Amino acid sequence: MKEKLYTIPLNDAVNENDECPFCFIERKLEQDMINFVLGSSSSYMESDIREQTDNIGFCRTHMKKMFDFGNTLGNSLILKTHYQKLLKEFSQQTAHFTPGKSSLISRIKKQPSESNSVAAWALQKDCSCYVCNGLQQNFDRYMETFFYMYTKDSQFHEKIKNGKGFCLHHFGLLCENADRYLNDKQKAEFYPEIFALMERNLQRLEEDVSWLIDKFDYRNKDADWKTSKDALQRGMQKLRGGYPADPPFKQK
Ligand SMILES: [Zn+2]
Ligand SMILES: [Zn+2]
Repeated sequence: MKEKLYTIPLNDAVNENDECPFCFIERKLEQDMINFVLGSSSSYMESDIREQTDNIGFCRTHMKKMFDFGNTLGNSLILKTHYQKLLKEFSQQTAHFTPGKSSLISRIKKQPSESNSVAAWALQKDCSCYVCNGLQQNFDRYMETFFYMYTKDSQFHEKIKNGKGFCLHHFGLLCENADRYLNDKQKAEFYPEIFALMERNLQRLEEDVSWLIDKFDYRNKDADWKTSKDALQRGMQKLRGGYPADPPFKQK
């Protein structure tokens, strides 16, 4: 039964047949996570959740998405106690700080001293994110489910093999996880199949973008758009993932 928790949404994502089923899943998970943080369940009023957001904070991308979502009061409450936690850490970090000796080499190369603890602390804050963490946990389960279905469900396998492939970002993650979930025999089949799939679909995107450009030629003014009308956003998604043409996800 627990299996269905992941197999059904994964099947749905594949059946969407857009540029990358993992982008589709990632978007859904991200929206669920933002809805959980700021939506009508008001999870930010629960002390255990707030303790976590106070400690972990949010990355730049998700701060922006939280702002776009709306709920000024909810956002401000989350921010207020996060600030209080941060200020304590800040004074601890800076209280005993002494700058390291700058060597001539590091100054010529304009490199910061490697042992700058305050710089390291501030940098670490950039990638500490409650939404990213939640997303990651669920996403890992989908990766596991993907390989489970790819090896056990022939219908699923065929759909992947004949589908539109993945964005380059998720293709990379897929290869990384293939080494984890597939045995040598399965890998010998998986890699040639997935490489051919990716190449065919990257080629398709290159052609879609090219025809989009050609459509700007006045001689092609009345020619059919073919599949190129939204080639720009799909072309961008195929390279880096995500949905460039999506409007901001907002509170209902
Ligand atoms: Zn993707
Ligand atoms: Zn994040």
